[in-house]
Amino acid sequence: MVDYLANTEINSQRIAAVESCFGASGQPLALPGRVLLGEGVLTKECRKKAKPRIFFLFNDILVYGSIVLNKRKYRSQHIIPLEEVTLETLPETLQAKNRWMIKTAKKSFVVSAASATERQEWISHIEECVRRQLLATGLQPSTEHAAPWIPDKATDICMRCTQTRFSALTRRHHCRKCGFVVCAECSRERFLLPRLSPKPLRVCSLCFRELAAQQQKEDVEEQGLGSPGPSAYLAGAVCGASSGDDDDSDEDREGSGDADWPSRVEFYASGVSWSSFHS
Ligand SMILES: [Zn+2]
Ligand SMILES: [Zn+2]
Repeated sequence: MVDYLANTEINSQRIAAVESCFGASGQPLALPGRVLLGEGVLTKECRKKAKPRIFFLFNDILVYGSIVLNKRKYRSQHIIPLEEVTLETLPETLQAKNRWMIKTAKKSFVVSAASATERQEWISHIEECVRRQLLATGLQPSTEHAAPWIPDKATDICMRCTQTRFSALTRRHHCRKCGFVVCAECSRERFLLPRLSPKPLRVCSLCFRELAAQQQKEDVEEQGLGSPGPSAYLAGAVCGASSGDDDDSDEDREGSGDADWPSRVEFYASGVSWSSFHS
C-alpha cells in the first residue's frame, strides 16, 4: 500500500507538521514504520451538535482533534489504535449524509464526509489499515463496542421513563452502557464497566438491572453452589455514587473558534486517486 513511504523524509516531515499543529497538547506521533496516509476534515456528531474535526489516518492509528486554525493549530487530540476499530456505514438523516460509525470498545462515534466518494475513500482506507494491523499484531477484530451517545437534541424527554421533560433545570444524562439520553431519576445507579473506565459509571435503570443480573449469574457460576457474595461490580455501584459525571472530553469549551470549517478531505496525493496507493 504505502510501505514505500515508511522511513522517508517526506513522511517524517508530514508527521512533524501534525505534531507541530497539536503542539504541547498532543502526543509525539513519529514512530519507525509509521506512515501518515491522509487527512481531512470530517463532521463529528458530538453530544450537543455536529462539529468539524480534523482526522489523520496513519497506518496504525487514527488521530483526530478539534480545529483552532486549519492546518496551523489543533487541540483535544484523540488517538485510536486501528486494530480496535470497526466501521459501520449509516443511513443519512435530515441533518447529515455520508455518515458512518467508528466503533471501539472504549468509545464509538458518528462522522460524516462531504461526499459519498470521500466516505468510501475513508472507509476503504481505514478498513485496509485495520486488516493489516490485525495481521501484523495477530489480534482478533474486536466484537464488543461502546454504545455511541445519542445526541442531546435527539430527544426532549427521558428515553427510559418517557415522562421527564428536559429543560434548563432538568439536565440530560447519558447512560454509559446504552448511550440513551435519560433523566437523573432514571440514572441513579453506577456500574463498573472496566472497558470504559476504572471507576463505576452512570448507567440507566434498565441497563443497571441487566448488568446486575448478569453479574449475579456470573458470580453464582464462579462460586458453584456457595452463596453468592456481594459482587465487586455491585459494591462499586454503591461506593462510586459520586462518579460518572457527564463529561465528554471531546466537547468544545466555550468560545472556541472552529465552528465554520468546511467539511472536505484532502489526501496527500491530491489530484491522484487514493487507490493508486494500493498497487
Ligand atoms: Zn427518566
Ligand atoms: Zn442504559
